[in-house]
Amino acid sequence: MPMFDIIPIPAFDDNYIWAIVHPLNNQVVIVDPGDAKPVKAFLQNHGLSLQAILITHHHHDHTGGLAELCQTHECIAYGPSSMEPICQVVEDGDSVQLFNNSIHLSVIASPGHTLDHLVYYGHDWLFSGDTLFSAGCGRLFEGTAEQLWQSLQKLQLLPNNTAVYCAHEYTLDNLYFAQSLEPNNRDITIAINQMIAHACTLPSTIGQEKRINPYFRTHLPEIQKKLGFNDSFQSFKKMRSLKDTWQVKS
Ligand SMILES: [Zn+2]
Repeated sequence: MPMFDIIPIPAFDDNYIWAIVHPLNNQVVIVDPGDAKPVKAFLQNHGLSLQAILITHHHHDHTGGLAELCQTHECIAYGPSSMEPICQVVEDGDSVQLFNNSIHLSVIASPGHTLDHLVYYGHDWLFSGDTLFSAGCGRLFEGTAEQLWQSLQKLQLLPNNTAVYCAHEYTLDNLYFAQSLEPNNRDITIAINQMIAHACTLPSTIGQEKRINPYFRTHLPEIQKKLGFNDSFQSFKKMRSLKDTWQVKS
C-alpha cells in the first residue's frame, strides 16, 4: 500500500480542508472544501488532479467551495442527504471507494453538531468534521446532547492509533478548557506545552483523545465531581453547555 500524504489546506480563520494525496499518480481527494480558492491553488501548485470530495455536513464553511470545484473538475462528491443533488448521498454503514478502489472509507453517522453529520473512517484515518475536535467536540446546533453523546461514544470505540483529522484548529482553546476541569492531568499540560509551538496541531489520535479530551473522560469520578454529577451523560451535557460560554482567563 503506498504511503498517502494528508495535508491541511488552511481556510477562513481556523478551518482545515484536508487533502488526501496519492503518492504515485498525483490524484487527490478533498474533505470539506469550504472555499474553492485555496483548494484550486493547492491543486495547481502541486500539479494534482481532483478525484473526489467528501462532505461531513452542510455548514457553509465545509461546503462553500463544492459547487465551483464540481463545475471545474471531473470529480465525484459524496455527502449526506442534505447535500443532494450535488453529492452522491451516503449514509451510515456505507463505504466510499477512493483512488480506484485502493482506499475504502466507512461512513459513520454522527448527529449532534448537525443532524446530517457524517464522519469517514478507514486506513487508520478519521475525518471527523465538526463532531470530534482535538480535546473537544462540536457545538450543538441541530441535534440533542444525547445524539452528540452517542456519536462520540461510537468514535471512542475506534482503535487508539486512528489519526483524527478534524476540521478546525481549536485545540489550544479546548485544552485550556480541559485543564480547567482537570488541573492535575499531566497529559493535558504536556499537550498544551507541545501545541503552543505548532501552527497546526493535527492530526491527533483516538488514543491521545482518551487522555486529553474531557468529552471522552466523563466516566471519571474526578470529572463528574467537578461538574456536580455522578453520571457520565449528565456530566457530558453540563460540560458541553459550560464550554459554550467559557473563555480563557487572561
Ligand atoms: Zn459545522
